[in-house]
Amino acid sequence: MRQVRLIYYSRATRDMSLADLKSILDVARDNNSGLGICGMLCYENRYFLQALEGEREAVNELYLDIIDDPRHDEAVILSYDEIDTPIFRDWTMGYAAGSAHFSAMLNELKQAELEPDKLSQAQALSFLKSMAKHQTQV
Ligand code: FAD
Repeated sequence: MRQVRLIYYSRATRDMSLADLKSILDVARDNNSGLGICGMLCYENRYFLQALEGEREAVNELYLDIIDDPRHDEAVILSYDEIDTPIFRDWTMGYAAGSAHFSAMLNELKQAELEPDKLSQAQALSFLKSMAKHQTQV
């Protein structure tokens, strides 16, 4: 089976509380483990930036479900690539937001707040990879 990595960003339709984010992550982690999907989610400035990795069909179907979710809209796919080994395999859905490391990484990208619409594919992937090593507990 072919494996892929899909990275997209979207805008939250309202400010997300910690409880909102926890509810998204609880469901995501539960579902993803059954689907063999892993990934990483970042949230700031009403932007979500998410990587989904797994079998092509499973990732495609999940992405279509996710973008139907009324908690966000304006989703834009940043990249979609075949992969040999998932980078985020240790996390059914990792999460990072608002930490000192998060801000430091954004500074390196010349951003004061997360603005994924201004990131290249390579910058977005490298940001997600770095944040996976410095996650926020929710
Ligand atoms: P149901 O809970 O029956 O949902 C029915 C519908 O209601 C769906 O359209 C759902 O999106 C919507 N919904 C559910 N909860 C709420 C709520 N609190 N407020 C408003 N609408 C709601 N799910 C995953 O499985 N894996 C992921 O990696 C993942 N990542 C996500 C990333 C983001 C940024 C967001 C916003 C959501 C994510 N989700 C993820 C959640 C996903 O969109 C679905 O809510 C989830 O898969 C359950 O959908 P369902 O149709 O099976 O269940």
